Amino acid sequence: MEISNILDYSKEELAEIIKPSFRAKQIYQWIYCKYVNSYDDMKNIPKEMRENLKKNYVLNPLKFVKKEISSDESIKYLFALHDGYTVEAVLLPMKKEKVDEDGKLIHLTKYTICISSQVGCKIGCSFCLTAKEGFKRNLTAGEITAQVLEIKKDNNIAQNRRVNIVYMGMGEPLDNIQSVAKAVKIFSDPDGLAISPRRQTISTSGLSKQIEKLGKMDLGILLAISLHAVDDELREKLMPINKAYNIESIINAVKAFPIDARKRVMFEYLVMQNVNDDIKSAKKLVKLLHGIKAKVNLIYFNPHIGSQFQRPSRNSVVAFQQYLTDHGVLCTIRQSKGLDISAACGQLKEKTDRELANDKS
Ligand code: SAH
Ligand code: SF4
Repeated sequence: MEISNILDYSKEELAEIIKPSFRAKQIYQWIYCKYVNSYDDMKNIPKEMRENLKKNYVLNPLKFVKKEISSDESIKYLFALHDGYTVEAVLLPMKKEKVDEDGKLIHLTKYTICISSQVGCKIGCSFCLTAKEGFKRNLTAGEITAQVLEIKKDNNIAQNRRVNIVYMGMGEPLDNIQSVAKAVKIFSDPDGLAISPRRQTISTSGLSKQIEKLGKMDLGILLAISLHAVDDELREKLMPINKAYNIESIINAVKAFPIDARKRVMFEYLVMQNVNDDIKSAKKLVKLLHGIKAKVNLIYFNPHIGSQFQRPSRNSVVAFQQYLTDHGVLCTIRQSKGLDISAACGQLKEKTDRELANDKS
């Protein structure tokens, strides 16, 4: 019999099955604040209860398979699930400098953790490596939250250090909306990791119906749309999902989405040489985003073996950005973190599969 993963339970759910219920809160704190790796370390939990938990609930659902550290300090992890499938997650530390009240320069590190929501993906975007392996299965809420927990543990990031979460690893989060919504809630529990929904960004290829559904859940999360093209013809070629949900339907869904007044919806635009890096596209993008509190994030296409697209020139990306900025659209260029490791989603996994295949031959 498959035993349950304790991370799949919210604190309230644990309180339903563990009596007396104050124990649920204690167990939650041991897991998410004190980072214990064994039930035996839960000192204030009676021995009999610990033995029972040990028998019935897995505490560490992920196994480390591989870790790659980039020269820019981002760290890419490959984790194995109980059934042997693997998923990726990435820690992106950002160094910031700040002057404190006494005029002293202080160095701060801000952490962002990029996590996967599925093994593989059904959406089949032509530029994406994850798409190549097809869809295997959804992750459970606990398999999603475990990625953050393991990365925090591995890097000794204290419970009270702020981290941001982006659902931008492998998979389409809105194709696994129930588990992702539950993960958002588990992450934000004040007795747990205490990561506010306002620090969690769900990135989607644009499943308009699911964006509407997510909006109705009113979780308070941030939304990122992988737009990548400004007309339906090109977008259909890049992202077949556009046949079911065209650009107009996405824009309408975004307009109806509840967004914190201080925040913006992010539009990701993967720039590919001679495909979508022209100023005509930038012009259309400005029109498209009219009336939306948006910010555009330009991403350099990251080539992988067998990919049919090329990385754009720096000049074209900067010119694209300049056009948007000049026309009142907030626009940043994503720093290509970890280009020297295996940068875009799916690439560490693919590399490991290839190395394993080579080892066997
Ligand atoms: N499925 C969701 C979230 C995961 S993909 C989505 O599509 O939004 C996260 C981001 O990585 C997306 O914006 C995706 O377009 C981008 N991406 C995919 N392949 C890439 C590549 N080769 N180079 C750079 N970014 C890539
Ligand atoms: Fe899936 Fe996102 Fe990759 Fe498209 S870009 S195939 S939606 S993971």
